[in-house]
Amino acid sequence: MNLRLIALDCPACGSAMRGDASDLMFFCSHCGSAALLGSDDLETVPSTALLPAPGRQAQVWKPAWVIEAEVTVGARQSSSGGRSHSWRGDRTFVVPAFALPLPDLVLLGQSLSKAAGTVGEVPREPIRGGTLAFEDAVTLVRHLVVGDEVRKPGTLETVHVVISEKSHRLAATPFEDAGDGRLRCAITGVVVRPVPD
Ligand SMILES: [Zn+2]
Repeated sequence: MNLRLIALDCPACGSAMRGDASDLMFFCSHCGSAALLGSDDLETVPSTALLPAPGRQAQVWKPAWVIEAEVTVGARQSSSGGRSHSWRGDRTFVVPAFALPLPDLVLLGQSLSKAAGTVGEVPREPIRGGTLAFEDAVTLVRHLVVGDEVRKPGTLETVHVVISEKSHRLAATPFEDAGDGRLRCAITGVVVRPVPD
């Protein structure tokens, strides 16, 4: 077993960054930069913040991936033999990066990806618990797209989905304390139950 010690100093401003033991990503509470734990260093990644909807508050901030991708869905075939049109388009997905049960992760990812939220400056507050690697977030994006296709009318037999990532950022995402360990998304109102550390 190889143990490495990586200083959690912000790559942008040098301030100490804090996180939980299992965190893969960190936000600097001094300058708002975000960094990913790489193989032997912290790698800067573009950062942003998604702002609460009017009337809602940001009581807790959690990390999410914002992924812009070109989506190609081809050869969608139904059991009745009909073949619907292929489509291709640019879409923006928001995938929660903190530990959630899979149904909560899918529900929140779907609702955040559909919400036309506003973005702003990263808050200088703790944003911890980011454990979902970027590659896993892209896998979830594929899952969301396939899920959307499955829910369209007709029985789906084959579908071919290609996700071509164009850019990605780490976003601070606002939640309200919904009590009993649950969080209510301050953008969509969806309530989730984070997996305890
Ligand atoms: Zn910094």
